[in-house]
Amino acid sequence: QQDKPAEKAVQLKGELAAYQGVWVFIEQREGIVAPVSLELLGAGRQLADKLGVELCGVLLGDQVSGLVNMLYEYGADKVYLAEHPLLHFYRTETYMKIFVELVQQYKPEIILMGATTTGRDLAGAVATDLATGLTADCTGLDIDLEQRLLLATRPAFGGNIMATILCKKHRPQMATVRPKVMKMAAPVPGRRGELIISEVNLQEEKLLTKVLEIVKEQGEQVNLQEAEIIVAGGRGLGDRENFRKLCFGLAEAIGGKVGASRAAVEAGWIEQKYQVGQTGVTVAPKIYFALGISGAIQHLVGIRGSDIIIAINSDPEAPIFKECTYGIVGDVFTIVPLLIEQLKEK
Ligand code: FAD
Repeated sequence: QQDKPAEKAVQLKGELAAYQGVWVFIEQREGIVAPVSLELLGAGRQLADKLGVELCGVLLGDQVSGLVNMLYEYGADKVYLAEHPLLHFYRTETYMKIFVELVQQYKPEIILMGATTTGRDLAGAVATDLATGLTADCTGLDIDLEQRLLLATRPAFGGNIMATILCKKHRPQMATVRPKVMKMAAPVPGRRGELIISEVNLQEEKLLTKVLEIVKEQGEQVNLQEAEIIVAGGRGLGDRENFRKLCFGLAEAIGGKVGASRAAVEAGWIEQKYQVGQTGVTVAPKIYFALGISGAIQHLVGIRGSDIIIAINSDPEAPIFKECTYGIVGDVFTIVPLLIEQLKEK
């Protein structure tokens, strides 16, 4: 008979043993939870089960208690809730203060946050204040039960190796995780847990920063992480005009969004928010078209979650052909217009 994993986990001695449980920071804006937080509840559930500890969501904001039941349904056993008008907008100072107070009071052994702008900012500030380790931008999480340690894996050296990083001597162990890497668990309607409401003691006059105004970004909102079809273009498209004609033309014909390699972004053919890869976004569409993209490792790390990769490249030796599901060796200027024409006819 197999031991339950949780029974195999070693019990740490001394100060570190006081730290128990897996926490997920629930990132929300205007009451909408970031999908990565729900993905992390899915990943956190597995870590917590391995360790035999609770999975907790930490929800900060103003009038956000309506989200609590959803967090139980996505796997949280417990939710720590801190509400205050000064938590309405994310500010490093206020969120860090409340988060650190909660950690000091309840002592979690693992804290996970999304590798979003907010998550990256908060995780760095919290880890610094607590003088603990943080592994940023992870793509894999596991537990070493023998040592009761979080195994946080992330690309290193420009994506050429995957490094697994341990935080042996400090608690909590912290990690930010890229959106779309972890699988969201299927919600269990009606599942409930325990709510811990935290008192918030914040005074505007004591804060160093103030939110004066929120200015929404002008122009098209780009959310490649949620896109089901992406048509991405690279240097092989030659110039801005061709990039726009072929990428936007095919995307429109097939109902997809446009993405780009760094070379296309650096050439000024499209804004940085469209960049896919290590220093851009990680995507996981059903179909990813790579037009005139060579398949450098820094690009590939961002597209490996795609169900189907279709590459069109004139060089049969291009590295993208080792990764793609379907590869077409040929000229984008011949093939893509034909594809657009065919799709438009349907
Ligand atoms: P190229 O490598 O120049 O490839 C162009 C391809 O087009 C070639 O394979 C060529 O055969 C093909 N081609 C040319 N003409 C045609 C034609 N007529 N028809 C069909 N095919 C044609 N890159 C990213 O994309 N995203 C990142 O986030 C990223 N982060 C990076 C981070 C670091 C730290 C570093 C060092 C690099 C990073 N890069 C990133 C850059 C990366 O290494 C590559 O330089 C980049 O991805 C190359 O872009 P590309 O494939 O468009 O261009």
